[in-house]
Parts: sequence; structure tokens; C-alpha cells
Amino acid sequence: MNSETPVVYLDNAATTFPKPEAVYRDMDSVYRSSGGNAGRGANPLARRAAALVAETRELAQTWLSAPEVTFSPSATIALNTIIFGANLRTGDVVYVSPFEHNSVARPLEHLRKTLGIVVRQLSYDKQTMVCNLDAIRAHFRIEPPSMICVSHVSNVFGILSPVEELALLARQASPSVIVLIDGAQSAGLVPLELANIDALVFSGHKSLYGPYGIAGVAFGRDWRPAPFIYGGTGTRSESLDMPSNGSDRYEAGSQNISAVAGLRAALIWLKETGRCSIYDHVSSLTAQLTTTLAGLGGVFIYPSNSRVEHSSVVSFNINGVSPQIVETALGARSIAVRAGLHCAPWAHDFASTLTQGGTVRTSLSFFNTEQDVLALAEAIDELLQHA
Ligand code: PMP
Repeated sequence: MNSETPVVYLDNAATTFPKPEAVYRDMDSVYRSSGGNAGRGANPLARRAAALVAETRELAQTWLSAPEVTFSPSATIALNTIIFGANLRTGDVVYVSPFEHNSVARPLEHLRKTLGIVVRQLSYDKQTMVCNLDAIRAHFRIEPPSMICVSHVSNVFGILSPVEELALLARQASPSVIVLIDGAQSAGLVPLELANIDALVFSGHKSLYGPYGIAGVAFGRDWRPAPFIYGGTGTRSESLDMPSNGSDRYEAGSQNISAVAGLRAALIWLKETGRCSIYDHVSSLTAQLTTTLAGLGGVFIYPSNSRVEHSSVVSFNINGVSPQIVETALGARSIAVRAGLHCAPWAHDFASTLTQGGTVRTSLSFFNTEQDVLALAEAIDELLQHA
């Protein structure tokens, strides 16, 4: 396959592709017209870059309905900022969903080993993958949470967790709880009320249709973590302490201005296109995908309960064929999916898919079409005939 062969791209949970045209355009033009260093001096190009950062921040705050947004280079760094900045202590109980990405699981495991925090999984039904709010309420009463970390949409199974309800339950049990929602797969796609959520982490290059190199935290309440990265901010440089408030506190180092420009263009595109039309398009394609796959004997979709809403991500396996072989066979037909654990081993432990090498994951975006879904179904039908 050469680089000109068109690919049916169904790996949007890894990164959305393609991007809206304005993202490419503005990322190219920013270095030609406004490529100063934001917040570093008052020269005209530095000012232009600073204005771009400020405008992008405002757009992100509006889109996420958040009183404050700080940027970071990746969702991984944003999640680490919250987890390491949460000032957890020995014996503190942190509840997680069974679907957390390693960007949450690994920092927590590090704190478990080095500090002695206790990590508990929230109760979810293994068959339906629906969370059991009554059981969770009871667990919170017995062992109140210091923190909860829940991905809004699982990057493996696409299931949507009721994070607003979970946040409320956690706050009722423990008013000072820190509620961290990993919105890498959902921010922009699924609206969220942040009233009980301290930190919603978003990723620029996934559901926001922007570029790599920019992500961040939307703070919903007054709680703020200690800084995670220390360095120059272009402000109060006489002090060796990090600024005590504002986004500078978490944005040490030069801003990635082309990523900021790309995110700005993406946020404008999202607003113009409309959350509902994006969500409706992706949902209806996802429903078409699950129905079509379910109609092919020998394909097992997770979870098996078809009532569960898959938010653009669908994982499946083909009887007797490893996910990696399916990924390679589809790749040979120019269809891009992803096989494996998707950096979320807990999810596979939960679904008992660890030993078979994980799942085949398909994930759709606004730019996919019914033809893409049909191409996948045809290719899988062919594989089944030769399996
Ligand atoms: N959380 C979730 C749910 C994700 O899907 C991902 C990326 N797969 C991340 C966090 C980490 O994002 P990044 O690699 O862009 O830092």
C-alpha cells in the first residue's frame, strides 16, 4: 500500500482523522504570521500569540462550560497534574472505574506502591457494563472516597459512565472528595455539567478534532491542585515560586502555538457544526456498525447487551481469530482499526479479554460515512468465510 491509497479510517479513539480543513490552514499560517512566544514580552508578535492563547482558552471554556481552563501538552500530562497535585496521603481511598486508561492507572499504581493509597474499583455489572449506583453509594458510606477517577467514555468499550451521578454520590459521602473525570474520548461530543466535578481532562487531538500537542483541564469548582511542572511562565519572574493562581500556575514553558491555533480552529468548527449534529451523525453510524456486526455470526461485541449506548467506540472479537490477525487482515484491505489492550488493561481484566490479546476496536468520527461501515462489514464477512 502506498501513502496515496485511501484508507477507511476507523481508529478515531486513537486520534481523530482527518481534521477540519481550518485546523490544517491555521496551524500552517500561525508560524508565518503570529509565531511569537505567548506571554514572553510585549513585542507585537508575542502579543499576537498571547491573544491567540487567550481566545482559544475562552472558546474552550465556553465549549466545556467551565469557569477555568488550563492547557497542557497531552491528556496524560493533564491527568498526572491532577493525580499528583491532589495531595493524597497514606490510606486515602481512590475509586476508579474498571475502564481507566493507563494515564490514570499507572500514576495511581505508583502512589499505591510509594505512598500507600488504596485503589478500589467502582461496582459495574460484568455483563452489561452498567454501573451499580446503589452498591457504589453503600461502598462510599463504608469507605468514603478521597478521590474518584472515572473516564466519561471508555476508550475500549465506548460505554458512557454516569459521571454526574457518580460525582454527586461521592460528594454526598465526602464533601472534600476530588472528582477527576477523564474526558479524553468525550469532551466536546457529550455535554457535561461540572457542578460536582473538580477536574475534567480533555484532549485536543481526539473528540475535539484538533491537533496533537494540546490538551488540558477544565476546572468545575474551586479546588486546584499543586503545580506538577515548574518553570518559566513569563510572569512574576522575580519569584522562585510558581504563581499561586491562574493558568500560569500549570502552564510553565513556552506554549505550543501551532497546536493552540489548531485547537482554536477546531473549537470554532465544533461550534459552527453543532454538538448535536456531530453527536447524531456519530451515534447513528455507531448504531449501524453494531447492528451490522451483530448480524454477522461469529462476531462478539462487548458488552453483549445491545441496550448499552456505545459512544462512537465499539470493541469486538471474531471467534477463534486473534484481534491482531483481524487488525492486520483489515489493514491489508486499507481499513484502519486497532487491536490489543488500548492502554487499558483493567478494562480487559474486567471483560476477560486479556488472555485473547484484547479486542479489535473501531471508533468513528463525524467524517466517517455509511460506506465506511459497509466496507468494514464486507471485509469482516470475508474474513469470517476464511476463518
Ligand atoms: N485517557 C483516555 C480515555 C484515552 O483514550 C487516552 C488516549 N488513548 C488518554 C487518556 C491519553 O491521551 P494522550 O495519549 O493523548 O495523552
